[in-house]
Amino acid sequence: SHPVYGRIDGPIVIIGFGSIGRGTLPLIERHFDYDADQLVVIEPNDDVANFLHQRRIRHIQTAITRENHRAILGDLFKDGKGFCVNLSVDTSSLDIMRLCRKLGVLYIDTVVEPWAGFYFETTDNAQRTNYALRQRVRDEKAANPGGPTAVSCCGANPGMVSWFVKEALMTLSRDLGRDDAMPASREGWAALMQSLGVKGVHIAERDTQARRTPRPRGTFVNTWSVEGFISEGFQPAELGWGTHETWFPDNGHSHSTGCRAGIWLERPGAITRIHTWCPTPGPQFGFLVTHNEAISIADYYTVGAPEAPDFRPTCHYAYHPCDDAVLSLHEMFGSGRQQTEHHILAPDEIVEGIDELGVLLFGHEKNALWYGSRLSNAEAMRLAPYQNATGLQVTSAVIAGMVWALENPSAGIIETDEMDHSRCLEVQRPYLGPVEAHYTDWTPLQDRWELFPEDIDESDPWLFRNVLAS
Ligand code: NAD
Repeated sequence: SHPVYGRIDGPIVIIGFGSIGRGTLPLIERHFDYDADQLVVIEPNDDVANFLHQRRIRHIQTAITRENHRAILGDLFKDGKGFCVNLSVDTSSLDIMRLCRKLGVLYIDTVVEPWAGFYFETTDNAQRTNYALRQRVRDEKAANPGGPTAVSCCGANPGMVSWFVKEALMTLSRDLGRDDAMPASREGWAALMQSLGVKGVHIAERDTQARRTPRPRGTFVNTWSVEGFISEGFQPAELGWGTHETWFPDNGHSHSTGCRAGIWLERPGAITRIHTWCPTPGPQFGFLVTHNEAISIADYYTVGAPEAPDFRPTCHYAYHPCDDAVLSLHEMFGSGRQQTEHHILAPDEIVEGIDELGVLLFGHEKNALWYGSRLSNAEAMRLAPYQNATGLQVTSAVIAGMVWALENPSAGIIETDEMDHSRCLEVQRPYLGPVEAHYTDWTPLQDRWELFPEDIDESDPWLFRNVLAS
């Protein structure tokens, strides 16, 4: 009953077989026609060897590095056909994407990942931002337009949430009684957001997945890559910086090159709290963890010149990870030490909870609209094997991106904001559980603790000054 969306000729090479790689495999098997003996997994971890062996999947048990990636991938893709699915930490998205395009094969990843060592050995914080990582991919696109499709950052977020922004804009337009046609260009989408009066977007997520066992001290528990979360959590807090902002944070920095859409703060994102809102909890704290989409969405919806735009939304991640991950962060930052034990919650140990992941479009006539997926782990388990709700939101976006790439094989380097969101969501939707729109009259000025003075500006509730928690 699962649709097969197309044939992939040549090898399918999955780099990295962690929580996302393992969850993507059954969806690739379901939705594509390919030669099973051409499926290859490159993964250094011995733990997955038996799983792959039992399924007769070729396993290259090695880590892809700056030194070996050309030889290994060059050999696998020597016929100039196939698909490289990069789901690994510690491998340079840019270098691998470049190589794949040179070899003539399709490419997809879920994050602009650097080579191992980058996140903790780079001493210049500006260089450690997602702005800098993304800009290099944008520069590569500008220097080498067109050619084989390489989809950059096509997971849940970054990824699916960019498609949700477009759905949310059309929903808001309809609910305001307007009859805007669906825009067909970047400029059209940016003008629509501006004309709807949207000031900004939170990527507002609440993960309530939990297991029965309390978190042991010294173990970092999460619902997806612990390594990935620690890396991004230690990057500087970062956000797309909107034209409605009237104040600049004391520890803020802007950029003098590139798209200019974002700023960063001299502080790790995972200990920078903000006021935000999701349907289940209502008002809540989220962490201002840096993410590619904070910059890409602010950039995509810019009206006017990058240095002095007429309109740009503020955009950032507002992440409340699962409770065990919040405790893990608290322990890690408090002790100044990374936990040596890492644990990703498996679907069958989770006893309750959902991953509520959406976009909160704020500042318009109807105040704020949250649009997103409220997928429970229980439903995720019914839909696909080997993954929790968080994983399925990511892997189903990877499949949607792969379908889009197969249908648009010469689109060059592409971000999810630039793809046909309707087609991608059509493919992804069966895996997202309830996808809902919720309006709220909440603003960041409500539900505050009033006995202590705060540095806020009541003239506009949606200023970042009010969103940032003191
Ligand atoms: P994970 O930590 O569970 O797994 C990563 C895997 O990569 C591990 O099995 C590890 O052994 C392997 N690996 C490490 N170095 C490697 C190398 N040099 N070559 C090949 N394999 C290597 O992580 P995950 O949860 O599967 O996440 C994978 C990637 O997806 C991460 O980069 C993460 O940030 C990203 N991600 C994106 C989203 C999104 O929504 N966009 C969501 C979740 C994860």
